[in-house]
Amino acid sequence: MRCVVQKYGGSSVSDLDKLRLVAERIARTRAEGVGVVAVVSAMGTTTNELIALARQVARTPDRRELDMLVSVGERISVALLAMALREIGVPARSLTGSQSGIITDEAHAGARVLAVRPERLVACLEAGEVAVVAGFQGVSREREVTTLGRGGSDTTAVVLAAALGAEYCEICSDVDGVWSADPRVVPEARRLDHLSLEGALALARGGAKVLFEDAVRYARDHGVELQASTTFGPGAGTRLTVAAPDESARAVTGDDQLRRLRVRSGEAVGALERQGGRVRRRVGPVLYLDMRNVHGDLVLPEGALDEGPTAVITATASGLGEQAALGLGLERALAEGGVSVLAGGGEADTLWWEVGRSEVDRAVRVVHAALCAPAA
Ligand code: ADP
Ligand code: ASP
Ligand code: MG
Repeated sequence: MRCVVQKYGGSSVSDLDKLRLVAERIARTRAEGVGVVAVVSAMGTTTNELIALARQVARTPDRRELDMLVSVGERISVALLAMALREIGVPARSLTGSQSGIITDEAHAGARVLAVRPERLVACLEAGEVAVVAGFQGVSREREVTTLGRGGSDTTAVVLAAALGAEYCEICSDVDGVWSADPRVVPEARRLDHLSLEGALALARGGAKVLFEDAVRYARDHGVELQASTTFGPGAGTRLTVAAPDESARAVTGDDQLRRLRVRSGEAVGALERQGGRVRRRVGPVLYLDMRNVHGDLVLPEGALDEGPTAVITATASGLGEQAALGLGLERALAEGGVSVLAGGGEADTLWWEVGRSEVDRAVRVVHAALCAPAA
């Protein structure tokens, strides 16, 4: 049957007035004669608050128990949204990730989806109900509650769209699509009409949180079309497809949630990943580790050296990594902008520079002005 998946992020349901507006938006889509699966995140900053609570009880909370705790945030949202939908006459049913058939591996607080069994969702749609699904969570084969990593409601939406053969998957947020840089950091940033999923993946890996990396990768690998939209107000958003015309799509992003480590072996990488760390880049013995899903103190594997917090900015454009002259020009712009570059490199469609954490926004603005200004 015809259906679409819409995902609403935490800022779209941060209070009950917004939650009611989301219910009305879903009702409008349903009135077009299409079934709707609505994936919802925890309200506002609920997930941060739950993690903070855990860390008052334990310095490094057990990751299984953490999943039991943080998965509650999304359950609150889905129950309330289903009630709000019913209140305006739209039949709706809330479901957890487990009830929606999302089967994951055992990697608590950073699990990967292994399979999707969407029978209950299909039954909801056939009964004319909106299925309201708790984002960010699944269940392991051992029936443990798992979560998919920070930002993981995007993944829920994409895997369900693939499993249901949905017409598209709409990621609705507080920003109208994907921009040439975070519009909160760069006022001159422009919305991109189209972007390839490959280009979006490079941005997501570089730390642009508008789309979560795992979700974009899954969409690319399973041919799911994405539409990044604003929840409230008009806007054309960004269409993301495998083969979007990408020639002119240039973007810059920064990530200040990294640590730089020196390691001697591949085994050390495994030990860091088991604690939730994600290796963003490896340059010889140096690792840039994404710390978003490390909750507590990082236990260093033997022989590893922690060189402390750091940040990386990433520029993306078709073939950028091979354009040496352009790269040198951007480095010059950084130097002239007073940004000290600690390391850098490039490959395929990306160039990147390591900078101090406090310099990341300024560095993004400098590179954006040099790379993405209309005349560039
Ligand atoms: P949600 O709660 O809806 O999942 P997120 O906070 O995860 O929303 O992501 C949306 C935010 O991503 C925006 O508010 C914006 O500040 C940020 N962002 C970072 N880079 C970009 C970009 N290139 N384009 C659009 N938004 C971006
Ligand atoms: N609520 C989760 C988080 O804050 C998942 C999400 O928002 O996508 O990371
Ligand atoms: Mg998000």
